[in-house]
Amino acid sequence: MSSGIWKKKIASFVPIKLRKELRSDLKFIENLSNELLFETSIGLFENKWRPKIQEFIDYFLNEWANSQFRYWYRGAIQPGFSHTNIGIEAFNSSIKRKYTDWEKLEFEEFVTVLKDLISDHSEKAIQTPLSSAYSVVEEVWIKAAQMLNDPCKILNERIIYWAKLNGKKKRTNVTNEMIKKYQTVLRARSFNALKSSLSLWKVELGDSILTTKCDCPRYFLIGYCKHILVALIKTRRLSVPRIYSQTQILQKNSRRGRKRKAGAPLSRES
Ligand SMILES: [Zn+2]
Repeated sequence: MSSGIWKKKIASFVPIKLRKELRSDLKFIENLSNELLFETSIGLFENKWRPKIQEFIDYFLNEWANSQFRYWYRGAIQPGFSHTNIGIEAFNSSIKRKYTDWEKLEFEEFVTVLKDLISDHSEKAIQTPLSSAYSVVEEVWIKAAQMLNDPCKILNERIIYWAKLNGKKKRTNVTNEMIKKYQTVLRARSFNALKSSLSLWKVELGDSILTTKCDCPRYFLIGYCKHILVALIKTRRLSVPRIYSQTQILQKNSRRGRKRKAGAPLSRES
């Protein structure tokens, strides 16, 4: 959401040669997983950029760090709840399509439409009660299967780290030094040091997919991620549905066909 809003300000306040790095830093902040990290990173971000782009920093801190609109980073919203209004927009357009045919209605007509809408949606809600099962989309299963053998570090069966890919094709090993830097990230002295300390994804295992957490953006967006699936598989809390096992995926990719929308549902107990 943020990049669009900042685009104009960056264009008017920030010299071209600095824009790429600034955008990358803002993207990094947007993906942060908790309030403490956000606070810390904002302070270091200011130190880093104020000498170069004072006007932008004033604008940014006022509007996006010290105001009621500061909750734009991933960790500010409960995992699985959307950060955009795409859902609402789609809902609005479905109302226009299905119920009002893009006509402006008189008040009485509107009330009738509203009644229809509520009754339709209530019926739908009864037919598909809020999940006691969890649907994992196919794309995430496939990504999980692809990283199943990537190096990782399992600490005490409850915590698993992976090195971030950061554009690289192969994932590197997780070293003790990386873990130490990750764990002491709040002591970083500069924004760039903070950025490089967060070189890992960390999964905290619960007993099921519903209680397992990750600090990657995907988790905050949809409530689970490939790291979580692989962590559950590696600790034998979950097994890969047969259709997504390695060989099946390889076969599937060599065939052309329609994509399946959602994966096999996992029960709460799995
Ligand atoms: Zn993740």
